[in-house]
Amino acid sequence: MSAVLTNVDSPVRMGILTSGGDAQGMNAAVRAVTRTALKTGAEVYAIYEGYQGMIDGGDGIRRLDWDDVGSILHKGGTVIGTFRSTDFRERSGRLRAARNLLAIGIDRLVVIGGDGSLSGLDVFREEWPSLLADLVASGELDQATADAHPHLMFAGLVGSIDNDLVGTDMTIGADTALHRIVDAVDALVSTAASHHRCFVVEVMGRHCGYLALMSAIAGACDYVLVPEQPPEEGWEQRMCTELARGRSAGRRHSIVVVAEGATDRQGRPITAQDIADVIQRTLHEDTRVTILGHIQRGGTPSAYDRWASTWLGYEAAQEVLTATPGQTGPVIGFRGNRVTRVPLMEAVAATRRVPSLIAEGRYDEAMDLRGPSFARDMETFRELSEPSRVEPGSDAKRIGIIHVGGLAPGMNAADWAAVRLGISRGMTMVGIRNGFPGLIEGDVVDLGWSDVEGWADSGGCDLGIRRTVPTVEMLYGVSRQLESHRIDALLVTGGWNAYQAAHLLHRERDRYPAFRIPIVCVPATIDNNLPGSELAIGADTALNTVVDAIDRIKLSASATTRSFVVETMGRYCGYLALMGGLAGGAERVYLHETPTHLSDLAADVAWLQKSFAAGRRLFLAVRNERASENYTTDFLAALLNEEAQGRYDVRTQVIGHVQQGGTPTPFDRLLAVRLVSYALRELETRLTSGSDESSYVGLVRSAVRSSPLSHMAEEVDPTYRRPRQQWWMDLRAVLAAVSDSDLV
Ligand code: ADP
Repeated sequence: MSAVLTNVDSPVRMGILTSGGDAQGMNAAVRAVTRTALKTGAEVYAIYEGYQGMIDGGDGIRRLDWDDVGSILHKGGTVIGTFRSTDFRERSGRLRAARNLLAIGIDRLVVIGGDGSLSGLDVFREEWPSLLADLVASGELDQATADAHPHLMFAGLVGSIDNDLVGTDMTIGADTALHRIVDAVDALVSTAASHHRCFVVEVMGRHCGYLALMSAIAGACDYVLVPEQPPEEGWEQRMCTELARGRSAGRRHSIVVVAEGATDRQGRPITAQDIADVIQRTLHEDTRVTILGHIQRGGTPSAYDRWASTWLGYEAAQEVLTATPGQTGPVIGFRGNRVTRVPLMEAVAATRRVPSLIAEGRYDEAMDLRGPSFARDMETFRELSEPSRVEPGSDAKRIGIIHVGGLAPGMNAADWAAVRLGISRGMTMVGIRNGFPGLIEGDVVDLGWSDVEGWADSGGCDLGIRRTVPTVEMLYGVSRQLESHRIDALLVTGGWNAYQAAHLLHRERDRYPAFRIPIVCVPATIDNNLPGSELAIGADTALNTVVDAIDRIKLSASATTRSFVVETMGRYCGYLALMGGLAGGAERVYLHETPTHLSDLAADVAWLQKSFAAGRRLFLAVRNERASENYTTDFLAALLNEEAQGRYDVRTQVIGHVQQGGTPTPFDRLLAVRLVSYALRELETRLTSGSDESSYVGLVRSAVRSSPLSHMAEEVDPTYRRPRQQWWMDLRAVLAAVSDSDLV
């Protein structure tokens, strides 16, 4: 037997571990937990290979320094390893784990894992006092040590690509997995279309259809099978009818997405091969199966999984360090774009209820536990994917679609959604090319279901976009064209100028009867500077471009000692700069919202000199393009260069217009679908009631909402063209906690 363990007066020490299935973004969380805790003076220990590291002790538990978690933000998987520990399922294993933790004085834990890992944590927490009592009784632990650490304090973070934890909107890894799947679906579409083929794609999700449904929407697929809603009898024939109808409506391919846990109503698994066989047999289509498997877990984390996991890690460290002994720790997750705390076992129990509800045939309740948007998204998918049976009547309302502002990735996805949803709701959708100048020239075309084929995954804006807000002289021409094309309502998609233009038409409706129509604006700009929406279509894609650029920049500098000043777009809105800096691992971010003074720059330079003298090899600053009129990117670079004292060289990188290009991310496609779907409902309601109200829609927390355009003036700062309140500004504190400053 080992000697009696004494550990009474240890400083605050916390452990961090990743357990169960790995998920992209776990590293960002490990880094944030570690750095946040180190900044408060606590000691942090990595527990390697999940719970097994606690049981093995020795090298399984190692102290982490600031630099130990450097250069891991961009890595997939988990650098501290994960494991499915059978020993931890036994009390004897947990007894050894408690002993090994107390040998170091650790009584605080952050666990990042799925519901299995979190229930393991709950068992450990509950048993802790009795484990200590056993250790004292067996003479392995002295009573004073047991008394000094009477409770285990903890926080759980959900690492799960399935996005299956009830009570939180997004789990660590789900967004990246969606990226992998949608990339694969996009790739399959091009080959499938070339051969008129059908593909059945199996994605992960034993009990959760999140990945399947979201990838089916974002990938513009034809059919989806999820565990929560097994198809009714006869689904095979119905599926084949839909696929055949899609083909006759002009699709060159069909894609069916199936979650790995999909079953029929008798609980019999429906595999990808089963589906392929049905299609082959019924439609005589060349049908192939693609099982994506572990690809979904792999690769570099998306921008979201980096900034969100960093934020969660920051909160988890705070939670654990300020916990009062005896208080039960929470699971920390996201709800409505904000951090939320859910009681540990409540979240796990609700998550585990889903498979039972499915087994009992209580499908609606299972769907409800996925949150209100899941059932709505399922319905929207049906509308999008089923070529409409509705032949618009001669009295169908004609909805004009127009774009104003700068280009944002996801605009085509918004138009694809508008046309398909509009048609399926009995409207006639009218494309207005090239913004208001195009409208004045009469460049207007009716759009059919198949005219938008292939738009969901394409960047750019096929209808064309102009920045022009109509001048007084143009208003007559605009009104003439709206009348001659019998436009009953307008869907205006774009940025700040789109909102200005819509507001102008609305204000002028007394003078121009053609403007007495309902108008709804949909936010689409990479600047993310619009009122009434926490995120605009395109911002997530642009952010991923920024983060990708930063990854490359960092690699390019890896063989030297270098300082980089990276400039992002955004006009006066610092969203891309701050979030890019957070997700890219920048040390400094310069924003227009928080003016930089000479004294700040002097402090930065002094710190930088000290830091490079102490061995730093790379410094990264991200600057918003309009952070300061005078302290420009070149000025900052010149300043850093002047003060380098030969310790480092300096480079600048203006990321530029690539931020407006590229294939829209899954999130931007989904956001486009949700916002457009809501906007069309608004137009429908107003057309029915004869209202000529105008509004803008947006995502606030997790709900889509609408505000009258007349509210815009109250919500925005017109000089700098951004909302007065910007939710993401809170993340400056997170950046400060995880970026190197005084810890040299
Ligand atoms: P996930 O965390 O991804 O759901 P698992 O369900 O495999 O993955 O759980 C991961 C690990 O968590 C298990 O291997 C085990 O070590 C621990 N664990 C899970 N459930 C329990 C439990 N009821 N009691 C103790 N440990 C558990």
